[in-house]
Amino acid sequence: MVYFDNAATTRPCEAAVKAAAEGFECFGNPSSLHGVGLAASQLVSAARKTVAASIGALEQEIFFTSGATESNNTAIFGAANSVGRHKKRIVVSAVEHPSVANACNALAALGLEVVFIPPTDDFCERFIAAVNTDTCLASCMLCNNETGAVFDAARIFKQVKKISPRTLTHCDAVQAYLKLPLRAGRLFADMISLSGHKVHAPKGIGALYVKKGVHIPPLLYGGGQENGLRSGTESVPLIAAFGAAVDQLSKNTDTRYRQVSLLRERLHEKCAPLSWISFNSPDGGSPYVNSISCAGLRSEVLLHYLESRGIYVSSGSACSKGKKSGVLTALGIPDAKADSTIRVSFCAENTPDEVDALVEALEAAKSELAGVK
Ligand code: PMP
Repeated sequence: MVYFDNAATTRPCEAAVKAAAEGFECFGNPSSLHGVGLAASQLVSAARKTVAASIGALEQEIFFTSGATESNNTAIFGAANSVGRHKKRIVVSAVEHPSVANACNALAALGLEVVFIPPTDDFCERFIAAVNTDTCLASCMLCNNETGAVFDAARIFKQVKKISPRTLTHCDAVQAYLKLPLRAGRLFADMISLSGHKVHAPKGIGALYVKKGVHIPPLLYGGGQENGLRSGTESVPLIAAFGAAVDQLSKNTDTRYRQVSLLRERLHEKCAPLSWISFNSPDGGSPYVNSISCAGLRSEVLLHYLESRGIYVSSGSACSKGKKSGVLTALGIPDAKADSTIRVSFCAENTPDEVDALVEALEAAKSELAGVK
């Protein structure tokens, strides 16, 4: 099997699986005052320490959630329900994941003014120009999940804070985490969303970084776990697995980046003679995510053809499941081209031979499938 859908999800690493098993053994409730509870709470604390260290944050700045969808919603509704009581504007990029975009749409329906900034060449300037002192939230992802485009969120947030110090800044860093440089202090973000299953941990676990001194109300009320920001008994196995995966990946981020960059280079080289293949991913984007259009082939048909040869990719973004991609539209890619777009997303375990197999399969698809609707 050649798995090139790592932006959708990754295979949990051995360390994560082992840590999850230990977490199941250690079945106490972290809130219990006895030793069984204490053992569970120690696993949670150890994972918190690891995740905090991985982005240069303090342990008290890391809140475990069920994943980045919850982290994003907590950040966005949290900003709206605090600073947003007096400041009614939200500025956000037009290429966010649906868990950001649709949370903002829901707030627009409640009467907030949401300004979506398209990903043009002057994106940063336009974003900054849209922020005023009536802005409660500025949200910009670090790396796009469909194209790998990298945004200079640090530059944007630094300016936002100069224009309007009370505006909360939020970054969905899911596709950058443990892949591209990410330090909380250098991002000027009040809140950062992370997801476990994109970094070889299981699904259903993520984290929200909230800068010390920033206070937002929770989405969920209850027993007050996670310092009141995320009530609900902690999923000890998932948290322990997240910690184990992060521990492993944070030790070799640069090496993995170099390996994956070589894979991307090979993909470009091998595709260069094939004039019907074009790359939508910008130069300087993340090598982990590659958006490719194959003229004359429908992405879904192509996806299943590749699957029949044991190669797994996604059509656009896996989250949109066949739905038209808002991101490709925002990038100005015409519908016909978007319909022929696949996403090839790598992890460091992929090999150059696998890239060769993909390109061979694409060529075979072109000759066998041309004209198939
Ligand atoms: N943001 C981005 C950029 C993503 O790629 C994803 C996952 N597709 C999410 C948020 C949602 O993460 P989760 O699956 O952990 O809810």
